[in-house]
Amino acid sequence: MSLISKLPQVGTTIFTTMSRMAQEENAINLAQGFPGFGSDPVLLELVAKYTREGFNQYAPMSGVSELKQALAIKTQLTQGYYPDPESEVTIVSGATEALFAAFTAIVHPGDEVIVLEPAYDSYVPAITLNGGVPVFVPLQSPDFSVDWELVGSKITSKTRAIVVNSPHNPSGYVWTIEDVNQLASLVSETGLFVISDEVYEHILFDGRTHISLGSNAILQERTFVCGSFGKTFHVTGWKIGYCIAPKVLSTEFRKVHQYLTFSTVTPLQYALAEYLEDAEKYLELPAFYQKKRDLFLKGLALTPLQFKPSQGSFFQLATYGHLSKKSDVLIAEQMTRQLKVACIPVSVFYSNGQDHQVLRFCFAKKEEELEEALHRIQKVASLF
Ligand code: PMP
Ligand code: GLN
Repeated sequence: MSLISKLPQVGTTIFTTMSRMAQEENAINLAQGFPGFGSDPVLLELVAKYTREGFNQYAPMSGVSELKQALAIKTQLTQGYYPDPESEVTIVSGATEALFAAFTAIVHPGDEVIVLEPAYDSYVPAITLNGGVPVFVPLQSPDFSVDWELVGSKITSKTRAIVVNSPHNPSGYVWTIEDVNQLASLVSETGLFVISDEVYEHILFDGRTHISLGSNAILQERTFVCGSFGKTFHVTGWKIGYCIAPKVLSTEFRKVHQYLTFSTVTPLQYALAEYLEDAEKYLELPAFYQKKRDLFLKGLALTPLQFKPSQGSFFQLATYGHLSKKSDVLIAEQMTRQLKVACIPVSVFYSNGQDHQVLRFCFAKKEEELEEALHRIQKVASLF
């Protein structure tokens, strides 16, 4: 059989590749972004309770009411607005599904979608599978902030949407209120939709706060806010997330969601609804992760690598460009095989693979594991 690929440029993701290499090499995996510690036993017990009590059949297509309500209350508390749980909140199988369903709901063949690079790897395939055309805009060096004039210059009559991500993977850049206002004034003139990837909404450092695009009136009416309980509560394997969007957008979003997965794991939804009643569970996350980031930075400062502290997410970038021009893919592989610490080469987050000799490390790990990894990274000069 011969098959014409719809995604001819796509291979296995770097996250799978590096995790596999880490396993083969028995290396510490600071590559793929997942927490290296257990989740809260309270949450695990709630899942056990709801499975035992028989909450094991299909959930309603848009999610169980209890969880949609709990999320609306959390949004009120953290972002100052209350989305209507029944018409504006949808529970899905991970932020990846939320993003895919949002793109599918709005992108028609030939539509352009602005993508800020470096970008998370799921956006472009979701755009192109829907016949859309990604239009890439580079983030600014050295902090990965947005050049709003440049973004404005890329908008044409064909531009349907822009996809944005704060706190940002891989750079950790966190949007300021100025960023939010700039986007609002840009879209109010042009009628674009916004897909806002906010999966690291609760992981911010040095007193920063997350400004959801849903909290801005101009943006709210055109934005799909995509989030992930997996990321927030250290359970990435559960693949459960959400999309908050105004009713008109949510209606189209749900038409896609109901044929992608129809509904999402029932006992997890009831467990998360009850767990969310205690706001401390997410309000304590910045302090929890700040300790890990600080420990990681302290160790990194003793290596020859250079870095700027991550502002949010559980990733830290570091460069070796002042020491070597070897490719980041090669250095990431050598670091995994020789130093036994896996990381991600940042060139893979660019459509044209541009290489600035930058590596991404995930510090969402136990302290002992981070300390051992840092000890091994001390020998990084041996790779250059
Ligand atoms: N967006 C970004 C920026 C991510 O890093 C990830 C990875 N977790 C996702 C979306 C996907 O989230 P989920 O695992 O909930 O599908
Ligand atoms: N979001 C995670 C990362 O950036 C990976 C998730 C995945 O493997 N698809 O590392």
